[in-house]
Amino acid sequence: MLHLAVNGALGRMGRRVLAIAAQQAADISVTAAVDRTESGAYGHAVGTQVGAPAITVPLTAELPPDATIDVVIDFTTPEATVALASACVQRKIALVSGSTGMTPEQAATLDSAAGDIAVLHATNFSVGIALLAQLTKQAASVLGLDFAIEITETHHDQKADAPSGTALTLAEFAASGAKLDPEAEGTFIFGRHGRGDARPRPEIGIHALRGGDVVGEHTVHFFGPAERLELTHRAGSRDLFAAGAVRAARWLQGRAPGRYTVADMLQDLLSKATT
Ligand code: NAD
Repeated sequence: MLHLAVNGALGRMGRRVLAIAAQQAADISVTAAVDRTESGAYGHAVGTQVGAPAITVPLTAELPPDATIDVVIDFTTPEATVALASACVQRKIALVSGSTGMTPEQAATLDSAAGDIAVLHATNFSVGIALLAQLTKQAASVLGLDFAIEITETHHDQKADAPSGTALTLAEFAASGAKLDPEAEGTFIFGRHGRGDARPRPEIGIHALRGGDVVGEHTVHFFGPAERLELTHRAGSRDLFAAGAVRAARWLQGRAPGRYTVADMLQDLLSKATT
């Protein structure tokens, strides 16, 4: 049995994680549901507030001290994730987080938490995006700097950060394939407002579109001499990410402290499926 807590339980993603956990009640028990909201919501069953009535655990503002928790799934904000990581370290609870928009300092707190607990942080939990990242690296390596790389991403109008964490991850894979230094000034260009000069070849452009209810779309464009390659991923539903996070929580349960990735998980699951 996996004893699961959900941080950000009332959010767009938290709700879907609870719904998917409810479908897997035979071996997942939701033992805590946390969010920051009006005080009137606390103490009442979270399931009735998010359309998953089978989940009867009460909503709380923090992880309840007496709850049995193996893994927390977190979809909140970078600040909330940093605070949660320190609570997880104190209680030796494994952490799966999908919060995006972290500064390098905030991301570093997850690295240090990983000295004490198992941490899997991913900007995207879809299998398709994990493959897109690999394909992007391969294409950038094969095509080389004769091809200009641009990444476009589209999300709903409530998304808090831009560009998306996934676009930044794809940019890092593209830079690695093209042998560009992601830390060097000018490697990543965010939009092109006000620049009058021609496009310098070695940069990677990253552009965000916002509107409507788009769950998430990413395209990596390779513009070459007389030909163009585009690699696109379209997410059809948030359940894709929620189900990926629940799979990650199952996989992380009982694992040694360390920082894990979706690619580690997929590789491990694949090797078990083929042996
Ligand atoms: P949302 O705004 O709908 O939900 C966030 C929830 O977190 C809200 O209910 C909010 O009240 C709660 N929250 C804020 N501070 C908190 C705190 N200190 N403690 C507990 N709860 C707190 O946002 P969302 O669309 O669900 O997305 C959440 C995050 O997940 C964003 O960073 C988003 O970019 C990211 N995301 C990641 C993936 C992925 O696959 N990794 C997929 C979708 C969204």
